[in-house]
Amino acid sequence: MAMNRIQFQPGLSLRELNKLYGTETQCEEALEKMRWPTGFRCPKCQNESHCIVWHGETKTFQCNRCHAQTTLTGGTIFHATKLCLVIWFQAMYLMTQSKNHLYWYRSTRAHDKLHCECDLTLCRDYLHPL
Ligand SMILES: [Zn+2]
Repeated sequence: MAMNRIQFQPGLSLRELNKLYGTETQCEEALEKMRWPTGFRCPKCQNESHCIVWHGETKTFQCNRCHAQTTLTGGTIFHATKLCLVIWFQAMYLMTQSKNHLYWYRSTRAHDKLHCECDLTLCRDYLHPL
């Protein structure tokens, strides 16, 4: 049986998580690299040439060919979320550290009360499809 390389990846400590993804900017940069590893590509026409358009604080990628606008989170599980990416990254970290559904218990202990309601939303939106 072939070894599942994903299963045997080296772990990430909570300290390392916070160092790598502790700010919204770090999470956005990581998400952008994951989503477009070779640079932005328009989801409609696959064109790479684009410009950045700001709608308030929302960074939007506009295709120079078809003028379609795409946000970093648009079309992903983060689409239209009210939570910041830092919370999402922390939640995904906690979920992947657990082999059962103890995530909810850990989450309520790891986050302060302010985030408990957000965690509920996260659990509903992210865990429910599982
Ligand atoms: Zn396009």
